[in-house]
Amino acid sequence: MTQSFNIGDKAFRARAGQETIWVTCPECLGSGRLCVILGDDSEVSIACVCCERGYEGSPGSIQSYAFRTGADVGIITAIEMREGKLRYSFNGCSYDDGYVFATEAEAIDRCVDLIQEHETEEKRRLSYKEKQHKTWAWHVSYWRGEIRRAKKTIEGAEARLAVAPKNKADQKEADNVPS
Ligand SMILES: [Zn+2]
Repeated sequence: MTQSFNIGDKAFRARAGQETIWVTCPECLGSGRLCVILGDDSEVSIACVCCERGYEGSPGSIQSYAFRTGADVGIITAIEMREGKLRYSFNGCSYDDGYVFATEAEAIDRCVDLIQEHETEEKRRLSYKEKQHKTWAWHVSYWRGEIRRAKKTIEGAEARLAVAPKNKADQKEADNVPS
C-alpha cells in the first residue's frame, strides 16, 4: 500500500452519496390501490402491494434514492491505517484512499465507476420489486377465501336464530293453546 499524499497536500475526493426522495409508485400511479379482474370479469381492488409500508398502508409513493456525485477539494489533515486500509482525513471526515485523488479529473473518473456500481445495485433492487407481482394474486385469493369463510359463519349464525317448527301440525297446536 503506497501512500499517495502527505499531511498538508491538496487533494480531491470522489463524492457519491444517496439522498432519499419519494417517487410516485410505478404500480398504482399514486392511487394506493390495484384493480384485479377475476375470471368472471368482476373487479376487486386491493391495497397496492408495491408501495405497501406496514401499518401505514399503501401511500401511493415509494422511497427511492437520488444518486449525487461530484469532487470536493480539500487539504489532507491526517493519515491513518484502519483495517489494513489507508485513510485520509479531509474536510473533517476520513476517507478510504480509493476515494482521494490528486486531480479533479481522477476524482470524477472514480465517480463514473461509482455511478455504475450504484446502477447495478439499483437494478438488482428493482428486479426484487418486480418479483412481488406474484403476490398480487395471492392477496386476492386470500381475502376472497376470508370472505367465503366469514359468509359461512354468518349463514350458520343466522340459521341458529331462525329455527322453523318441525312440522305444520305442531305449529297449529301451538297457535291454538289459549293464553
Ligand atoms: Zn403503489
